[in-house]
Amino acid sequence: MSDPKQVVTAARAQFIPYGRQWIDEEDITAVVDVLKSDWLTTGPKVAEFEQAFAQATGAAHAVALSSGTAALHASMAVLGIGPGDEVIVPSMTFAATANSVVFQGGTPRFADVDPDTLLVDPGSVEALITPLTKAIVAVDYAGQPCDYDALRAIADRHGLALVADACHSLGATYKGRPAGTLADLTAFSLHPVKPITAGEGGLVTTEREAWAAALRRFRNHGITTDLRERQAKGVWEYDMVSLGYNYRITDIQCALGLSQLAKLSGWVSRRRELAGRYDAAFRGVPAVVPLGRSPQATHAFHLYVVRVPGAERNHLLDALRERAVGANVHYRPVHLHTYYRERFGTAPSDCPVAQAAYNEILTLPLFPAMSDDLASSVATTVAEVLSARTSTSL
Ligand SMILES: *Cc1c(COP(=O)(O)O)cnc(C)c1O
Repeated sequence: MSDPKQVVTAARAQFIPYGRQWIDEEDITAVVDVLKSDWLTTGPKVAEFEQAFAQATGAAHAVALSSGTAALHASMAVLGIGPGDEVIVPSMTFAATANSVVFQGGTPRFADVDPDTLLVDPGSVEALITPLTKAIVAVDYAGQPCDYDALRAIADRHGLALVADACHSLGATYKGRPAGTLADLTAFSLHPVKPITAGEGGLVTTEREAWAAALRRFRNHGITTDLRERQAKGVWEYDMVSLGYNYRITDIQCALGLSQLAKLSGWVSRRRELAGRYDAAFRGVPAVVPLGRSPQATHAFHLYVVRVPGAERNHLLDALRERAVGANVHYRPVHLHTYYRERFGTAPSDCPVAQAAYNEILTLPLFPAMSDDLASSVATTVAEVLSARTSTSL
């Protein structure tokens, strides 16, 4: 059981972050056990974690790497993305989604999103396809799977690979199918704010054995065997067959990931409960509009995002932070960042829906260790700030 002392209550002695990890004694014991063992990195815990993760997501193969960013980069590499290739990514995401294309020398093309859910708009994706397009990356923004049937149909029609950035959506489903099985390659993150954590870490799931092998080589310099495999076989020689990186994850991290994975479904349920509390509280606050929910999906609620139309978002964000509520904005659309404007010539009007959403979205604190009272108190604070503002502006 998780340590009740870690439940964050309504007594706001501390700043409430928008998300945070939950570490218990089982997690600590699991990590300490590895520290006392022979293998600190690429030992038995990596394989054990990969198998458990594949089972949890229903995927044939899971490959663990040093971060979600490494998982995305490795996915682009096994697809053979390189200079001259275009990959379509939604603009409403964390920069790493697009950066992974650039790491390989490819060009990201930014698709716009649905105004209600902020999930990638399949129509916008199709409009960006050119003879240079090689892949589509879907991002399960906030924890809600995209419309994968529509994206798959587009990918198949144009002969493109479909990649899922599921860094938010571990534990979510689309038409009853779990995140991890909805695309050709699916990337997950184990950063502390994500659904489960290993400190840092990431995974790629895939149905293809050859891709799983290529991902494992990519995380280890392009070398065909790891040290433990060579030791088991009694051989010392190795061969590097392609260019790879050191994107290995440690056994220490995988022990933590394994211990956390056991808690995933309870935590996702808890996130849904807390989101339901916020929804109920905001039904009486017309200035706060929770993002839309897809009827085809179950939501993992990595983030609880609302829209605050009008010019109130920045005021609300600042006022909440003054009151120790760590509200945040996810995300500044990637096509608006200086790097992409300078290097790829993106313009704000490229993705008008994402651009407009950026001025209105607000992420409120949501993490499994949050108490009901704390969620209610955050919702009350939001309503109070907005009503004080309305009365002073009259
Ligand atoms: C967190 C995140 C990443 C990167 O994951 P890291 O583990 O931090 O490298 C990529 N894409 C999205 C959408 C994310 O939220």
